[in-house]
Amino acid sequence: MPMPVDTRGRKIAIVCHCLLNANSKVEGLAKYAGVHPLVARLANEGIGIIQMPCAEMTALGMRRWGQTREQYESVPFVEHCTALARDTLAQVEEYQRCGYQIVGLVGVDGSPTCGVAHSAVGDWGGEYEPEAWAETLRDTGRAPKPGVHMELLMELLEPLGVRFVAIDESVEGHGVDAVIETLTTR
Ligand code: SF4
Repeated sequence: MPMPVDTRGRKIAIVCHCLLNANSKVEGLAKYAGVHPLVARLANEGIGIIQMPCAEMTALGMRRWGQTREQYESVPFVEHCTALARDTLAQVEEYQRCGYQIVGLVGVDGSPTCGVAHSAVGDWGGEYEPEAWAETLRDTGRAPKPGVHMELLMELLEPLGVRFVAIDESVEGHGVDAVIETLTTR
């Protein structure tokens, strides 16, 4: 009996949870229905996907407010993200040990948790009224630093050669072309 042909590409991208499931986002912030268009582009390139857990949803659930990096820098949340990042590290190490290529990690710019180049900042204490929350969102700034979860992932994965890129939903096309170009060139 001839062995079946194995056609896997041995290329894998690590992708933030909400890019495969917009439902994990804070209410009011989703700009696509379910799966981000990036995913189809990755599929066309024959690149497999590791979907990371959503650090915010798994810590605070679906009724959470939008928060800033300063709020998510709490010790318990950083510990939560550290545990998630270590799990991602273990998967990367195992794939690399067996000859697979991790083509990069795709974050979500602007997120206080998953931003790569930018994350939401604002030194305030939280909000309770929807109107106050909307006002706070308008006032929330962006700082040129990674989100809380992403910073921990960079510490663990950059030494292994993993490149970090991000979808940016504030720009036309969300930066998908640039992400695909980076992930498909080495
Ligand atoms: S950006 Fe990160 S924390 Fe925010 S919804 Fe997406 S996966 Fe969750």
